[in-house]
Amino acid sequence: MPLQPRKKAPAPSIGLTKMGRIPHTVLRVIAANIQAMLEAPVEMLPAMEIPETAYQTQRCQYDAGLVLKYLTHFSFPHHSRILAVTDVDLCTPIHTFVYGQAELGRTLAIISDFRLKYMEDGTAAAEGVYYERLAKVALHELAHTLSLYHCETPKCLMQVSRGLSHLDGLDVFFCERCTFVLHESLRNLHI
Ligand SMILES: [Zn+2]
Ligand SMILES: [Zn+2]
Repeated sequence: MPLQPRKKAPAPSIGLTKMGRIPHTVLRVIAANIQAMLEAPVEMLPAMEIPETAYQTQRCQYDAGLVLKYLTHFSFPHHSRILAVTDVDLCTPIHTFVYGQAELGRTLAIISDFRLKYMEDGTAAAEGVYYERLAKVALHELAHTLSLYHCETPKCLMQVSRGLSHLDGLDVFFCERCTFVLHESLRNLHI
């Protein structure tokens, strides 16, 4: 059989879905930031239900790990990474709350805007602050799916989250080392 020219694999695309009441404009802003920073196409997927199996009655929150587990039951054949955006409050068994959660080096990530809408004194966050926080948390969690661990470099988006003031003090920026790993991961997705 003659050798066929090797087909170029499609660019790694990221599927974006919402779970709950997230305005389309918010998804568009997140998509634009991902496209700009990761240089990967983002496609809007149909909305999904937040699974009640992840609800923690005692805490009135959703277990982020259980939401990710629920997402593993679906197949996303056309996307190498999936980011879900929700408006419900997320937690894990060891964290009182999380802004997001991801499968390290795998496919799925989720972020919540529940705690990003307000300042630490309880007043509403300005629209620009809210959007910037969403972009930072989305990029942080997607970077985990692209095999990035936490980083100590000042200002790097892969720093461990230390709350809203810390998040606001970060730039939309990955340090040199994280950028290298990120590009390597993205490049390997093309193979
Ligand atoms: Zn993290
Ligand atoms: Zn870094």
